[in-house]
Amino acid sequence: MRKYVIVGVQGSGKGTQSLLLARDLDLVHISVGDVFRWHVQNRTKLGALVRRTMAAGELVGDDLAERVVRERLDQHDWNHGFVIDGFPRNRRQAEFFLESYDIDGVIHLDLPDAEVRRRVLARRLCSGCGLDYNLIAHRPEREGRCDVCGGELVSREDDSEEVLAERLRLHHEKTDPVLELFRGKEFVVTVDARAGVDQVQQAIRERLGLPPHRP
Ligand code: AMP
Repeated sequence: MRKYVIVGVQGSGKGTQSLLLARDLDLVHISVGDVFRWHVQNRTKLGALVRRTMAAGELVGDDLAERVVRERLDQHDWNHGFVIDGFPRNRRQAEFFLESYDIDGVIHLDLPDAEVRRRVLARRLCSGCGLDYNLIAHRPEREGRCDVCGGELVSREDDSEEVLAERLRLHHEKTDPVLELFRGKEFVVTVDARAGVDQVQQAIRERLGLPPHRP
């Protein structure tokens, strides 16, 4: 059984790296942000409660975030383990987590703020089919248009300069102390997230003693 938490600022590649780990090692990927986004898109009661907070780049209340994590982990639907992405994000959530669950390691993706800005402001999403683009790494063939459906490419509501500045501030104020807490109690591996996707994945595997990554 392998149980990991992945921590990193927006744009550090948490989602991408978690998916690669989950796919190859048969882990369940639990993204708290994805769960909230699903509720917003499907207009559930929970979605109505969190929509504005998310659009402003602020953290949803701890009670709601803890509820989502508890309900998800209570399902026990993994045979080989899980990787949790986006939780804990502050000291209280970290204390809740450490009291309730055992984990084998914390993966910290380290990315300087300037690089975060460069990556996040280049992100685009197709308004038609939802496909992800990035004006640095994955440009569309025709400017502003989706290669697959021709839909207009737009930025995510929470990927603006102002919202990003707020998220970075919150990250340093609230999430940096989480790493300190974990460093005292758990096994934290810090990986330089400036490298390419495969190199970062390989570094994670080496540091955690996992089978090598085969791109
Ligand atoms: P993410 O996809 O991880 O960047 O999360 C998107 C948004 O979901 C965040 O900006 C928060 O509004 C909310 N969110 C995700 N995880 C948490 C959490 N652990 N605590 C509070 N809010 C969260």
